[in-house]
Amino acid sequence: MKIGGHMSISGGFSGIPERAKSIGLNCAQVFTKNQRQWISKPLNMDDVILFQENSKKYGLLITVAHASYLVNLAAPDNENWEKSIKSMVHEMERCSQLKIPYLIFHPGAHMGKGEDFGLNRIVDAIDKIIELSEVKDVNITLETTAGQGTNLGYKFEHLNYIIEKVSDEKRVNVCMDTCHIFAAGYELRSEKGYENTMNEFQNKIGFEKLVAVHLNDSEKALGSRVDRHAQIGYGYIGRQGFKNILLDKRFQDVPFILETPGGEELYPQDLNVIKEIFEGEIL
Ligand code: MN
Ligand code: MN
Ligand code: ZN
Repeated sequence: MKIGGHMSISGGFSGIPERAKSIGLNCAQVFTKNQRQWISKPLNMDDVILFQENSKKYGLLITVAHASYLVNLAAPDNENWEKSIKSMVHEMERCSQLKIPYLIFHPGAHMGKGEDFGLNRIVDAIDKIIELSEVKDVNITLETTAGQGTNLGYKFEHLNYIIEKVSDEKRVNVCMDTCHIFAAGYELRSEKGYENTMNEFQNKIGFEKLVAVHLNDSEKALGSRVDRHAQIGYGYIGRQGFKNILLDKRFQDVPFILETPGGEELYPQDLNVIKEIFEGEIL
């Protein structure tokens, strides 16, 4: 099983593999820079090289990146839109230097301009990013969202629309966030509800596009459209929902990434619940 968590980069990248291993993780997610800033100073290449060496040494199978929350590829305002595109190009370069293959981001918020406007805006932005970026070894990865405010990506159809319209769909992948899809209204707890959700994902997007799962419980109810993560087993998705997810063979090779409250300090608690779910199945 590939299991990771979002890790802090405040002490640089090189210490992450050892910390991940000590927690019991074999994958990781990072921000490529201070996520509250648009542009930051170049990466320290000594730190980057040590990160790669340590990834091998401590058995980190894959690291993915999460883009800055400032980015809004659906922004109606041209200045913000162009800044967002530039920032993504900048982050693609950092991912490539770090040998991170996937840059995950929230598709964008239309800010009242309507969903069609927003979706087309995102398509145009992705085309521009791919055109402007010299990086070929990093894929843009759309995350499913809870649909808070005017955020797009809370329906599988939204992601499908974007993938179908971009010029080079091979450069675009998908990350499924369990908290977000549940808050967006996709059932995960009952066997039937779970199957319906995953069949819909298969039909609208397809598991072949899926490169990561953000494994989070939800502090808010089904369909609340509110994005509040909870620790595994302690939210509305609960143990039953995670049993469905964790035992689903379709996720066998996909990295699960924890983004639960408490971060690195409390991931061991999430891992204990995950372990209990597996053991419960064996008994
Ligand atoms: Mn996210
Ligand atoms: Mn997420
Ligand atoms: Zn979230």
